[in-house]
Amino acid sequence: MPLRRFSAAEYAINLAAVVLAGPVYARREWADRSTLDRFAFRRAREMAIHAATRVPLYRERYREAGADPRAIRDWNDFRRLPLMDKASVRDGYPERSLADGTDFARCLLSTSSGSSGVVMTIPHRADRFWPYLLSSRRMLAWACGGRYPFWWRQVYVYTSEYPLLQVPGLYPLMFVPTAAEPARILEALEAARPHLLHTYPTVLRDLLAIGPERMRALRLRGVSVGSELSTQAERDAWEAALGTRVRDEYSSEELGRIASQCPEGRYHLHEDVVKTEIVDDEGRPTDGIGEVVGTELHNRTMPFVRYRQGDLARISDEPCPCGRRTRLLTDLVGRRNDGFVLADGRELPAGFLLDVSYRAILRGAADVVTAYRFVQRDRGHATFEVVPGPAWESTSAGAILRSIVEELPAGLEVEVATVTAIERRPGGKRSTVVRLG
Ligand SMILES: [Zn+2]
Repeated sequence: MPLRRFSAAEYAINLAAVVLAGPVYARREWADRSTLDRFAFRRAREMAIHAATRVPLYRERYREAGADPRAIRDWNDFRRLPLMDKASVRDGYPERSLADGTDFARCLLSTSSGSSGVVMTIPHRADRFWPYLLSSRRMLAWACGGRYPFWWRQVYVYTSEYPLLQVPGLYPLMFVPTAAEPARILEALEAARPHLLHTYPTVLRDLLAIGPERMRALRLRGVSVGSELSTQAERDAWEAALGTRVRDEYSSEELGRIASQCPEGRYHLHEDVVKTEIVDDEGRPTDGIGEVVGTELHNRTMPFVRYRQGDLARISDEPCPCGRRTRLLTDLVGRRNDGFVLADGRELPAGFLLDVSYRAILRGAADVVTAYRFVQRDRGHATFEVVPGPAWESTSAGAILRSIVEELPAGLEVEVATVTAIERRPGGKRSTVVRLG
Protein backbone atom coordinates (compact mmCIF):
# COMPACT_ATOMS: atom_id res chain seq x y z
CA MET A 1 0.00 0.00 0.00
CA PRO A 2 2.28 2.80 -1.20
CA LEU A 3 1.84 6.11 0.59
CA ARG A 4 3.11 8.26 -2.23
CA ARG A 5 3.79 8.08 -5.93
CA PHE A 6 7.12 8.27 -7.67
CA SER A 7 8.49 11.72 -8.40
CA ALA A 8 9.08 12.35 -12.10
CA ALA A 9 12.85 11.94 -11.60
CA GLU A 10 12.51 8.66 -9.71
CA TYR A 11 10.14 7.36 -12.33
CA ALA A 12 12.50 8.34 -15.14
CA ILE A 13 15.33 6.40 -13.44
CA ASN A 14 13.11 3.33 -13.07
CA LEU A 15 11.95 3.55 -16.68
CA ALA A 16 15.50 3.82 -17.94
CA ALA A 17 16.50 0.83 -15.80
CA VAL A 18 13.53 -1.18 -17.08
CA VAL A 19 14.50 -0.43 -20.67
CA LEU A 20 18.18 -1.28 -20.07
CA ALA A 21 17.75 -4.24 -17.73
CA GLY A 22 14.57 -5.57 -19.36
CA PRO A 23 16.34 -7.72 -21.99
CA VAL A 24 18.75 -9.18 -19.39
CA TYR A 25 15.83 -9.95 -17.13
CA ALA A 26 13.88 -11.49 -20.02
CA ARG A 27 16.87 -13.74 -20.89
CA ARG A 28 17.14 -14.89 -17.28
CA GLU A 29 13.56 -16.15 -17.53
CA TRP A 30 14.88 -18.87 -19.87
CA ALA A 31 18.35 -19.29 -18.38
CA ASP A 32 19.69 -22.67 -17.30
CA ARG A 33 19.69 -23.46 -13.63
CA SER A 34 23.40 -22.98 -12.99
CA THR A 35 23.34 -19.45 -14.48
CA LEU A 36 20.36 -18.55 -12.29
CA ASP A 37 21.95 -20.16 -9.30
CA ARG A 38 25.20 -18.22 -9.72
CA PHE A 39 23.24 -14.96 -9.99
CA ALA A 40 21.09 -15.73 -6.92
CA PHE A 41 24.11 -16.83 -4.89
CA ARG A 42 26.09 -13.69 -5.66
CA ARG A 43 23.12 -11.46 -4.76
CA ALA A 44 22.13 -13.44 -1.63
CA ARG A 45 25.70 -13.39 -0.32
CA GLU A 46 26.01 -9.64 -1.00
CA MET A 47 22.69 -9.01 0.75
CA ALA A 48 23.76 -11.03 3.80
CA ILE A 49 27.05 -9.08 4.01
CA HIS A 50 25.16 -5.81 3.64
CA ALA A 51 22.66 -6.82 6.37
CA ALA A 52 25.46 -7.95 8.70
CA THR A 53 27.30 -4.65 8.36
CA ARG A 54 24.49 -2.08 7.98
CA VAL A 55 21.36 -3.45 9.74
CA PRO A 56 21.54 -3.58 13.57
CA LEU A 57 19.16 -6.54 13.89
CA TYR A 58 21.23 -8.76 11.59
CA ARG A 59 24.52 -7.40 12.92
CA GLU A 60 23.65 -8.49 16.46
CA ARG A 61 21.99 -11.76 15.51
CA TYR A 62 24.93 -12.86 13.35
CA ARG A 63 27.49 -11.77 15.95
CA GLU A 64 25.70 -13.79 18.65
CA ALA A 65 25.61 -16.81 16.35
CA GLY A 66 29.24 -16.36 15.32
CA ALA A 67 28.15 -16.15 11.67
CA ASP A 68 30.21 -14.11 9.21
CA PRO A 69 28.57 -13.79 5.77
CA ARG A 70 31.92 -12.74 4.24
CA ALA A 71 33.13 -16.29 4.84
CA ILE A 72 30.26 -17.77 2.77
CA ARG A 73 31.59 -19.83 -0.14
CA ASP A 74 28.54 -21.85 -1.17
CA TRP A 75 24.86 -22.45 -0.40
CA ASN A 76 25.77 -24.84 2.43
CA ASP A 77 27.61 -21.98 4.16
CA PHE A 78 24.70 -19.66 3.41
CA ARG A 79 22.23 -22.08 5.00
CA ARG A 80 24.16 -21.87 8.26
CA LEU A 81 23.12 -18.22 8.70
CA PRO A 82 20.49 -17.86 11.44
CA LEU A 83 16.86 -17.67 10.30
CA MET A 84 15.08 -14.37 10.82
CA ASP A 85 11.50 -14.32 12.08
CA LYS A 86 8.65 -11.88 11.54
CA ALA A 87 8.35 -10.85 15.20
CA SER A 88 12.02 -9.76 15.45
CA VAL A 89 11.78 -7.71 12.26
CA ARG A 90 8.52 -6.10 13.33
CA ASP A 91 9.70 -5.35 16.89
CA GLY A 92 12.94 -3.89 15.56
CA TYR A 93 11.18 -1.50 13.19
CA PRO A 94 12.28 1.07 12.24
CA GLU A 95 15.77 1.61 13.73
CA ARG A 96 16.97 -1.95 14.14
CA SER A 97 15.34 -3.48 11.03
CA LEU A 98 16.46 -0.87 8.50
CA ALA A 99 19.88 -0.16 7.06
CA ASP A 100 21.79 2.56 8.94
CA GLY A 101 21.07 6.03 7.59
CA THR A 102 17.81 5.18 5.79
CA ASP A 103 16.26 8.34 4.34
CA PHE A 104 12.47 7.93 4.32
CA ALA A 105 12.07 10.82 1.91
CA ARG A 106 13.69 8.64 -0.76
CA CYS A 107 11.51 5.61 -0.03
CA LEU A 108 8.16 4.21 -1.00
CA LEU A 109 6.50 2.54 1.94
CA SER A 110 4.39 -0.55 1.47
CA THR A 111 2.25 -1.90 4.26
CA SER A 112 1.58 -5.57 4.71
CA SER A 113 -1.67 -6.65 6.30
CA GLY A 114 -0.02 -10.01 6.95
CA SER A 115 -1.81 -13.31 7.24
CA SER A 116 -2.12 -12.92 10.99
CA GLY A 117 -3.57 -9.41 10.65
CA VAL A 118 -0.36 -7.89 11.99
CA VAL A 119 0.60 -4.79 10.06
CA MET A 120 4.20 -4.34 8.93
CA THR A 121 5.68 -1.45 6.94
CA ILE A 122 8.42 -2.04 4.37
CA PRO A 123 10.35 0.83 2.76
CA HIS A 124 11.87 0.47 -0.72
CA ARG A 125 14.21 2.96 -2.33
CA ALA A 126 11.96 4.73 -4.85
CA ASP A 127 14.66 4.95 -7.52
CA ARG A 128 15.41 1.22 -7.26
CA PHE A 129 11.93 -0.09 -7.82
CA TRP A 130 12.51 -1.46 -11.29
CA PRO A 131 13.10 -5.13 -10.32
CA TYR A 132 9.52 -5.15 -8.99
CA LEU A 133 8.21 -3.64 -12.21
CA LEU A 134 10.02 -6.28 -14.25
CA SER A 135 8.86 -9.17 -12.09
CA SER A 136 5.27 -7.88 -12.22
CA ARG A 137 5.46 -7.62 -15.97
CA ARG A 138 6.77 -11.18 -16.18
CA MET A 139 4.00 -12.49 -13.94
CA LEU A 140 1.28 -10.72 -15.95
CA ALA A 141 2.74 -11.95 -19.24
CA TRP A 142 2.54 -15.54 -17.95
CA ALA A 143 -1.15 -15.01 -17.12
CA CYS A 144 -1.65 -14.01 -20.77
CA GLY A 145 0.13 -17.10 -22.15
CA GLY A 146 3.61 -15.56 -22.25
CA ARG A 147 3.20 -12.16 -23.88
CA TYR A 148 2.13 -8.76 -22.61
CA PRO A 149 2.67 -6.12 -25.32
CA PHE A 150 3.13 -2.58 -24.04
CA TRP A 151 -0.07 -1.29 -25.63
CA TRP A 152 -2.37 -3.75 -23.81
CA ARG A 153 -4.74 -2.21 -21.29
CA GLN A 154 -4.69 -3.53 -17.76
CA VAL A 155 -7.40 -3.03 -15.16
CA TYR A 156 -6.40 -3.84 -11.62
CA VAL A 157 -9.03 -4.13 -8.93
CA TYR A 158 -7.06 -3.64 -5.79
CA THR A 159 -7.09 -1.98 -2.38
CA SER A 160 -4.73 0.80 -3.38
CA GLU A 161 -3.26 2.33 -6.49
CA TYR A 162 0.19 1.39 -7.80
CA PRO A 163 2.68 4.23 -7.22
CA LEU A 164 3.33 4.38 -10.97
CA LEU A 165 3.07 7.45 -13.12
CA GLN A 166 1.52 6.81 -16.50
CA VAL A 167 3.38 7.31 -19.72
CA PRO A 168 0.82 7.64 -22.54
CA GLY A 169 0.69 4.52 -24.67
CA LEU A 170 2.97 2.49 -22.40
CA TYR A 171 1.29 -0.29 -20.41
CA PRO A 172 -1.95 1.63 -19.87
CA LEU A 173 -3.38 0.98 -16.41
CA MET A 174 -6.72 1.59 -14.82
CA PHE A 175 -7.34 1.27 -11.11
CA VAL A 176 -10.68 0.24 -9.60
CA PRO A 177 -10.87 0.06 -5.79
CA THR A 178 -11.91 -3.29 -4.30
CA ALA A 179 -14.25 -1.44 -2.00
CA ALA A 180 -16.53 -0.67 -4.97
CA GLU A 181 -19.71 -2.73 -5.43
CA PRO A 182 -19.24 -5.68 -7.83
CA ALA A 183 -21.82 -4.11 -10.19
CA ARG A 184 -19.73 -0.90 -10.37
CA ILE A 185 -16.53 -2.89 -10.93
CA LEU A 186 -18.17 -4.77 -13.80
CA GLU A 187 -19.32 -1.50 -15.39
CA ALA A 188 -15.80 -0.10 -15.07
CA LEU A 189 -14.42 -3.19 -16.82
CA GLU A 190 -16.94 -2.88 -19.64
CA ALA A 191 -16.04 0.77 -20.11
CA ALA A 192 -12.26 0.11 -20.10
CA ARG A 193 -12.31 -3.05 -22.29
CA PRO A 194 -9.01 -4.30 -20.81
CA HIS A 195 -6.86 -7.07 -22.25
CA LEU A 196 -5.71 -8.04 -18.80
CA LEU A 197 -7.32 -8.14 -15.37
CA HIS A 198 -5.36 -8.35 -12.13
CA THR A 199 -7.33 -8.79 -8.93
CA TYR A 200 -8.13 -10.79 -5.81
CA PRO A 201 -9.81 -14.18 -6.24
CA THR A 202 -12.72 -13.07 -4.04
CA VAL A 203 -13.38 -10.14 -6.41
CA LEU A 204 -13.30 -12.38 -9.48
CA ARG A 205 -15.69 -14.75 -7.73
CA ASP A 206 -18.09 -11.84 -7.06
CA LEU A 207 -17.90 -10.62 -10.66
CA LEU A 208 -18.60 -14.07 -12.08
CA ALA A 209 -21.49 -14.48 -9.65
CA ILE A 210 -23.29 -11.34 -10.81
CA GLY A 211 -22.48 -11.32 -14.53
CA PRO A 212 -20.91 -14.46 -16.01
CA GLU A 213 -21.99 -13.62 -19.58
CA ARG A 214 -20.85 -10.03 -19.32
CA MET A 215 -17.49 -11.15 -17.92
CA ARG A 216 -17.04 -13.61 -20.79
CA ALA A 217 -18.00 -10.91 -23.30
CA LEU A 218 -14.95 -8.88 -22.16
CA ARG A 219 -12.82 -11.42 -24.08
CA LEU A 220 -9.91 -10.94 -21.68
CA ARG A 221 -6.49 -12.22 -22.80
CA GLY A 222 -5.58 -13.22 -19.29
CA VAL A 223 -6.46 -12.87 -15.62
CA SER A 224 -3.97 -12.78 -12.78
CA VAL A 225 -5.19 -13.38 -9.24
CA GLY A 226 -3.25 -13.20 -6.00
CA SER A 227 -2.84 -12.05 -2.40
CA GLU A 228 -5.52 -14.46 -1.21
CA LEU A 229 -5.74 -18.24 -1.57
CA SER A 230 -7.70 -19.79 -4.40
CA THR A 231 -7.72 -23.43 -5.44
CA GLN A 232 -6.78 -24.86 -8.81
CA ALA A 233 -10.30 -26.33 -9.15
CA GLU A 234 -11.76 -22.88 -8.66
CA ARG A 235 -9.37 -21.27 -11.16
CA ASP A 236 -10.17 -24.01 -13.69
CA ALA A 237 -13.87 -23.21 -13.29
CA TRP A 238 -13.17 -19.48 -13.77
CA GLU A 239 -11.10 -20.22 -16.88
CA ALA A 240 -13.97 -22.20 -18.36
CA ALA A 241 -16.44 -19.43 -17.51
CA LEU A 242 -14.23 -16.64 -18.92
CA GLY A 243 -12.72 -18.50 -21.87
CA THR A 244 -9.23 -17.28 -20.92
CA ARG A 245 -6.31 -18.17 -18.66
CA VAL A 246 -6.54 -17.47 -14.94
CA ARG A 247 -3.17 -17.61 -13.20
CA ASP A 248 -2.25 -17.32 -9.54
CA GLU A 249 0.78 -15.72 -7.94
CA TYR A 250 2.46 -16.22 -4.61
CA SER A 251 4.10 -13.17 -3.13
CA SER A 252 4.48 -11.30 0.12
CA GLU A 253 5.05 -7.68 0.98
CA GLU A 254 8.36 -8.60 2.62
CA LEU A 255 9.86 -10.82 -0.08
CA GLY A 256 8.00 -9.60 -3.16
CA ARG A 257 7.32 -11.94 -6.05
CA ILE A 258 8.18 -15.43 -4.80
CA ALA A 259 6.50 -17.58 -7.46
CA SER A 260 3.77 -17.36 -10.05
CA GLN A 261 1.99 -19.73 -12.40
CA CYS A 262 3.51 -20.01 -15.87
CA PRO A 263 1.32 -20.41 -18.97
CA GLU A 264 1.29 -24.17 -18.21
CA GLY A 265 -0.03 -23.48 -14.73
CA ARG A 266 3.01 -24.48 -12.64
CA TYR A 267 4.33 -22.20 -9.92
CA HIS A 268 7.84 -21.17 -11.00
CA LEU A 269 10.07 -19.57 -8.42
CA HIS A 270 11.33 -16.13 -9.48
CA GLU A 271 14.85 -17.11 -8.51
CA ASP A 272 16.36 -13.83 -9.64
CA VAL A 273 14.04 -11.94 -7.26
CA VAL A 274 13.90 -14.16 -4.16
CA LYS A 275 16.09 -17.09 -3.17
CA THR A 276 13.59 -19.52 -1.71
CA GLU A 277 14.36 -22.41 0.66
CA ILE A 278 12.16 -24.88 2.53
CA VAL A 279 12.98 -25.79 6.13
CA ASP A 280 11.56 -28.34 8.57
CA ASP A 281 10.31 -27.68 12.11
CA GLU A 282 13.90 -27.53 13.38
CA GLY A 283 14.88 -25.03 10.70
CA ARG A 284 16.90 -27.58 8.67
CA PRO A 285 16.67 -27.75 4.86
CA THR A 286 14.14 -30.34 3.71
CA ASP A 287 13.00 -31.82 0.39
CA GLY A 288 9.53 -32.37 1.83
CA ILE A 289 6.80 -29.93 2.74
CA GLY A 290 8.07 -27.32 5.13
CA GLU A 291 8.16 -23.64 5.88
CA VAL A 292 9.01 -21.16 3.12
CA VAL A 293 12.16 -19.18 3.91
CA GLY A 294 13.23 -16.44 1.53
CA THR A 295 16.11 -14.08 0.86
CA GLU A 296 15.01 -11.00 -1.05
CA LEU A 297 17.72 -10.07 -3.55
CA HIS A 298 17.09 -6.35 -4.23
CA ASN A 299 15.84 -4.29 -1.24
CA ARG A 300 18.91 -3.00 0.57
CA THR A 301 16.89 -0.54 2.66
CA MET A 302 15.14 -3.29 4.60
CA PRO A 303 16.92 -6.58 3.92
CA PHE A 304 15.18 -9.91 4.42
CA VAL A 305 17.80 -12.64 4.64
CA ARG A 306 16.71 -16.23 5.38
CA TYR A 307 13.37 -14.81 6.46
CA ARG A 308 10.65 -17.15 7.71
CA GLN A 309 7.64 -16.36 5.58
CA GLY A 310 5.35 -18.60 7.62
CA ASP A 311 3.75 -20.46 4.70
CA LEU A 312 4.02 -24.17 3.98
CA ALA A 313 5.14 -25.54 0.61
CA ARG A 314 7.58 -27.86 -1.19
CA ILE A 315 10.16 -27.14 -3.89
CA SER A 316 10.41 -29.51 -6.83
CA ASP A 317 13.23 -29.98 -9.33
CA GLU A 318 11.02 -31.54 -11.97
CA PRO A 319 11.06 -29.94 -15.43
CA CYS A 320 8.08 -27.92 -16.66
CA PRO A 321 6.68 -28.40 -20.18
CA CYS A 322 6.86 -24.61 -20.70
CA GLY A 323 10.68 -24.88 -20.97
CA ARG A 324 11.58 -22.46 -18.17
CA ARG A 325 14.15 -24.02 -15.91
CA THR A 326 13.53 -22.38 -12.57
CA ARG A 327 12.51 -24.70 -9.76
CA LEU A 328 8.81 -25.20 -9.07
CA LEU A 329 6.88 -24.51 -5.90
CA THR A 330 4.44 -27.35 -5.26
CA ASP A 331 2.06 -28.26 -2.47
CA LEU A 332 1.53 -24.65 -1.47
CA VAL A 333 -0.79 -25.62 1.34
CA GLY A 334 -1.33 -22.13 2.54
CA ARG A 335 -0.45 -19.71 5.16
CA ARG A 336 0.56 -21.48 8.29
CA ASN A 337 -1.25 -18.94 10.46
CA ASP A 338 -4.57 -19.43 8.69
CA GLY A 339 -4.88 -23.17 9.22
CA PHE A 340 -7.49 -24.20 11.78
CA VAL A 341 -6.52 -25.69 15.11
CA LEU A 342 -8.42 -28.81 16.18
CA ALA A 343 -9.45 -29.47 19.77
CA ASP A 344 -6.36 -31.66 20.24
CA GLY A 345 -4.00 -28.96 18.91
CA ARG A 346 -3.40 -30.48 15.44
CA GLU A 347 -3.62 -28.06 12.53
CA LEU A 348 -5.60 -28.30 9.27
CA PRO A 349 -3.89 -26.38 6.42
CA ALA A 350 -5.72 -23.40 4.93
CA GLY A 351 -5.45 -24.86 1.41
CA PHE A 352 -7.32 -28.00 2.46
CA LEU A 353 -10.02 -25.93 4.16
CA LEU A 354 -10.38 -23.84 1.02
CA ASP A 355 -10.94 -27.00 -1.06
CA VAL A 356 -13.55 -28.22 1.43
CA SER A 357 -15.30 -24.82 1.31
CA TYR A 358 -15.31 -24.70 -2.44
CA ARG A 359 -16.74 -28.21 -2.78
CA ALA A 360 -19.50 -27.40 -0.27
CA ILE A 361 -20.51 -24.38 -2.35
CA LEU A 362 -20.25 -26.24 -5.68
CA ARG A 363 -22.61 -28.98 -4.54
CA GLY A 364 -25.49 -26.52 -4.26
CA ALA A 365 -27.32 -24.92 -7.18
CA ALA A 366 -25.92 -21.72 -8.70
CA ASP A 367 -26.84 -18.51 -6.85
CA VAL A 368 -27.39 -20.21 -3.49
CA VAL A 369 -24.48 -18.30 -2.02
CA THR A 370 -22.90 -15.09 -3.33
CA ALA A 371 -19.91 -14.98 -0.95
CA TYR A 372 -18.47 -17.10 1.84
CA ARG A 373 -15.75 -17.32 4.42
CA PHE A 374 -14.55 -20.05 6.78
CA VAL A 375 -13.41 -18.49 10.02
CA GLN A 376 -11.99 -19.81 13.27
CA ARG A 377 -12.16 -17.74 16.43
CA ASP A 378 -11.70 -20.48 19.06
CA ARG A 379 -9.73 -23.70 18.98
CA GLY A 380 -11.88 -26.68 17.98
CA HIS A 381 -14.67 -24.51 16.62
CA ALA A 382 -15.24 -22.78 13.26
CA THR A 383 -17.98 -20.81 11.52
CA PHE A 384 -18.76 -21.04 7.83
CA GLU A 385 -20.16 -17.62 6.97
CA VAL A 386 -22.32 -17.29 3.87
CA VAL A 387 -24.03 -14.39 2.14
CA PRO A 388 -27.28 -15.96 0.83
CA GLY A 389 -28.02 -15.53 -2.88
CA PRO A 390 -31.37 -15.52 -4.76
CA ALA A 391 -31.62 -19.34 -4.72
CA TRP A 392 -31.06 -19.66 -0.95
CA GLU A 393 -33.62 -21.93 0.76
CA SER A 394 -34.31 -23.00 4.31
CA THR A 395 -32.48 -26.28 3.67
CA SER A 396 -29.35 -24.67 2.18
CA ALA A 397 -27.47 -24.17 5.44
CA GLY A 398 -27.99 -27.83 6.40
CA ALA A 399 -26.76 -29.06 3.00
CA ILE A 400 -23.60 -26.92 3.20
CA LEU A 401 -22.92 -28.06 6.73
CA ARG A 402 -23.27 -31.77 5.80
CA SER A 403 -20.86 -31.37 2.90
CA ILE A 404 -18.24 -29.69 5.10
CA VAL A 405 -18.55 -32.01 8.07
CA GLU A 406 -18.17 -35.18 6.02
CA GLU A 407 -14.72 -34.05 4.84
CA LEU A 408 -13.35 -32.85 8.17
CA PRO A 409 -11.66 -34.93 10.84
CA ALA A 410 -13.13 -35.12 14.35
CA GLY A 411 -12.18 -32.32 16.67
CA LEU A 412 -13.62 -29.38 14.75
CA GLU A 413 -17.16 -28.29 15.48
CA VAL A 414 -18.64 -26.29 12.58
CA GLU A 415 -21.69 -24.08 12.25
CA VAL A 416 -23.08 -22.29 9.20
CA ALA A 417 -24.07 -18.65 9.74
CA THR A 418 -25.70 -16.27 7.28
CA VAL A 419 -24.24 -12.77 7.12
CA THR A 420 -25.01 -9.72 4.97
CA ALA A 421 -21.40 -9.19 3.85
CA ILE A 422 -17.98 -10.76 4.32
CA GLU A 423 -15.74 -8.70 6.55
CA ARG A 424 -12.42 -7.50 5.17
CA ARG A 425 -9.10 -7.65 6.94
CA PRO A 426 -6.96 -4.62 7.68
CA GLY A 427 -5.51 -3.66 4.29
CA GLY A 428 -8.66 -4.73 2.44
CA LYS A 429 -7.97 -8.42 1.91
CA ARG A 430 -10.97 -10.68 2.20
CA SER A 431 -9.54 -14.08 2.94
CA THR A 432 -11.74 -17.10 2.43
CA VAL A 433 -10.08 -19.12 5.19
CA VAL A 434 -9.04 -17.14 8.21
CA ARG A 435 -8.06 -17.74 11.79
CA LEU A 436 -8.71 -14.80 14.09
CA GLY A 437 -7.44 -14.26 17.59
ZN1 LIG B 1 6.35 -23.66 -16.62
